[in-house]
Amino acid sequence: MSTTPSFLHDLGIQHDNAGTWIGGQSIDSAAYLTSFSPVDGNVIGRVSVTTVEQYHKAIDSAHAAYLDWRTVPAPKRGEVVRQYGNLLRQHKEALGALVSYEMGKSLAEGQGEVQEMIDICDYAVGLSRQLAGLTMKSERPDHLMMEQWHPVGVVGVISAFNFPVAVWAWNACIAWVCGNSVVWKASEKVPLCAVACQILWNRVASENQVPAGLSCIVTGGVDLGVLLSEDTRIPVVSATGSTRMGREVGQKVAARFGRSILELGGNNAIIVTPSADLKMTVTAAVFGAVGTAGQRCTSTRRLIIHESIFDKVLDAIKNAYGQLKIGSPLRAENHVGPLIDQDAVAMYVAALDRVEAAGGSFHLRGGVLEGPEYASGCYVKPSIAEVENDWSIVQHETFAPLLYVMKYRELSEAINLQNAVPQGLSSAIMTGSMQEAHRFLSAEGSDCGIANVNIGTSGAEIGGAFGGEKETGGGRESGSDSWKAYMRRQTNTLNYGSALPLAQGIVFNI
Ligand code: NAD
Repeated sequence: MSTTPSFLHDLGIQHDNAGTWIGGQSIDSAAYLTSFSPVDGNVIGRVSVTTVEQYHKAIDSAHAAYLDWRTVPAPKRGEVVRQYGNLLRQHKEALGALVSYEMGKSLAEGQGEVQEMIDICDYAVGLSRQLAGLTMKSERPDHLMMEQWHPVGVVGVISAFNFPVAVWAWNACIAWVCGNSVVWKASEKVPLCAVACQILWNRVASENQVPAGLSCIVTGGVDLGVLLSEDTRIPVVSATGSTRMGREVGQKVAARFGRSILELGGNNAIIVTPSADLKMTVTAAVFGAVGTAGQRCTSTRRLIIHESIFDKVLDAIKNAYGQLKIGSPLRAENHVGPLIDQDAVAMYVAALDRVEAAGGSFHLRGGVLEGPEYASGCYVKPSIAEVENDWSIVQHETFAPLLYVMKYRELSEAINLQNAVPQGLSSAIMTGSMQEAHRFLSAEGSDCGIANVNIGTSGAEIGGAFGGEKETGGGRESGSDSWKAYMRRQTNTLNYGSALPLAQGIVFNI
C-alpha cells in the first residue's frame, strides 16, 4: 500500500500517535514504537512509548475514575457500553481492515474480530442488569443472609498480538459494567489497533461525560507489563499471551495477593473417529490448522486419527491444503496470510528442523515463500508432519501453520494422547457415535477448558466461558459467569430481630 489507506483516516490514526491515553487526553513521549504491516512490510505508523511517569499518571487517573464509576447504577454503565457497541458497528469495516493490515489475518477474520467486540458489548449490556448474588437461609431467627458483588477497582489488561482488539473488549466491556476502570497494555506488535479502539471509546465517553480515566491505554513492551503485574493499585490483571509470560505475570500478581486471569498457550487436538463425517472433519481440521496462519490460541495443532481411516483422512486434508491460496489477507480470495513478523517465520523454520531431527516424517513440508507478493518476508507454506505425541517439539506450542498427525486404535488411547500435553485449552472429537461423544465430554474425557463435538478446536462464541486448564492458565473470560472474576464477593448477614443469637448455638452470657 503506497498511499495512506482510507481506513486509517476513518479511525483517526495519524502517522505519529500518542501511546498514552487517559480517556480523551493523549500524552506523547520522545520514544516511538514503529508498526510494520506483515502484509506488505510497509510502516503503518508510530506510537509513542509510555514513560514510567506517564504510566503512574494513568493508573492514578484510572483509580480516581473507578471511585466515581462504582457509584453509577450498573444498567446506566451498560448504556454507555451499548453506545460503544453501536459505534463499533459503524466502524466495523475500518477497524476490521486495520486488524487485518496490522496483524495479518484475513479481512473476514479481522471483521469477525470486531463483530466479537460488538457481541460482547451486547452481552455486557444485558449483564449489567444481571449481576446477581444469592440469598441464603440463616440458622438464626430474624436473620437474612445474602451475597453482593462489588467492583474491584482498576483492571489491568495485557494482550497478545493475535487478537489485537477482541481480547481487550472481552475484558473491558465486562469490567466496565461491573463498575471498574480499565488500563490496557496491548501487544507492542499491534499498537495502532489499541489506539483506534481508544479513539472510538473517547467519542462515547465524552458524549456521556464518564470519568476520564475509565479507559486508559499505555504502550510499550515487557517492562510495562511487569509494572502492571507488580502494581498494588491493580487488584485484577487479565493477561493473554504465552505460557512463559503467564508464569511470570501470575507469580508477580500472586506475590502481592492480587488476582490474575491467565489466558495462555494451547496445544489443541481433534480426535477423528471411524464414524466421523469426512467433509466436516476436513473443514474443521484445515480451518483450525491454517486459519490466521496457525496463530490462534485455539489453532488445531494435532490430529489424532483412527488407524482404520488414517490414509483416507490424510489424503483428503492434503488435497485441501493443495487448494489453499496464500497471499495478502486483504484480498478475499486468499485463505492464508502472513505470520506476524520475520521472527515468527524463523521460529517456524526452526520448528520444522526440530521435527525432522526428532524423526518426524513430513506429509507436506512448507517453508518460507518468496516473490513480489511475499516481499514482507512473513509468508510461509503450511506443513503436515507425522510425529510421536511425547516428543518435546510436539509438547510445545508452535505458533504457526504446523499440523501434527498421529494414529490411535482405542478411544481411551486417543483421549490419553489428547490430554498428554502440558496445555489444556481447546479440544474436539469428530464422531457419529453418541457413546464416543459422551465419553469425550465426561470426567474421564478431555481435560481442556473447551471440548467440542463435531466442531473444530478453533473459534468460540462469546456466550460461553472461554479459557483453559493446566499451562493455559485456568482463566475464564467472556460469557457464563466469567464476570465474577472482575468483582469482589461480599457475604452479608442482617439481624432484623431484637436479640443477638450467635452462630453454631454458642452461648456467651455477659
Ligand atoms: P507474548 O507472551 O509474547 O506477549 C503477550 C503480551 O504479554 C504482550 O503484551 C507482551 O508485551 C506481554 N509480556 C510479555 N512478557 C511479559 C512479562 N514478563 N510480564 C508482563 N507482560 C509481558 O505472546 P504473543 O506472542 O503476543 O501471543 C501469542 C501467545 O498468546 C500464544 O502462546 C497464544 O496461544 C497466546 N494466546 C492465548 C489466548 C487465550 O485466550 N488462551 C488468546 C490469544 C493468544
